[in-house]
Amino acid sequence: MPIDPTLAYDHSNIFARILRGEIPAKKVYEDDFALAFHDIAPQAPVHVLVIPKGAYVSWDDFSAHAPAEEIAGFIRAVGHVAREQGLVAPGYRLLANVGMDGGQEVPHLHVHLFGGKPLGRMIA
Ligand code: C5P
Repeated sequence: MPIDPTLAYDHSNIFARILRGEIPAKKVYEDDFALAFHDIAPQAPVHVLVIPKGAYVSWDDFSAHAPAEEIAGFIRAVGHVAREQGLVAPGYRLLANVGMDGGQEVPHLHVHLFGGKPLGRMIA
């Protein structure tokens, strides 16, 4: 069920629980700003989620409210994971679903990294 991204951050959401180590995830990268792990239901040969360590509901919340250092750190982490996963030369896709129409289901900002096969051209 898609979420309403204007709601306050819910500290019991599943990615907050992964960040606190309360439930497991197949981690691929972690630094001061971000955690990356394999999506539990992969939709491509490589499907990794990258989430900020801070409590942000969505890309909208993050881009409006996060300190510049956190934004820079998160974006650098996404790029680092793409390189580490070997996605740069063949190419890959970045996606962040936002809110109801975007189909966002987990109310903690996450960027999907898809790759490992030709993904075709996606407009919407
Ligand atoms: O962008 P959206 O919110 O729709 O995507 C949430 C993603 O989180 C889904 O791809 C889902 O498979 C993934 N997920 C996960 N581990 C969980 C719960 C959800 O990787 N424990």
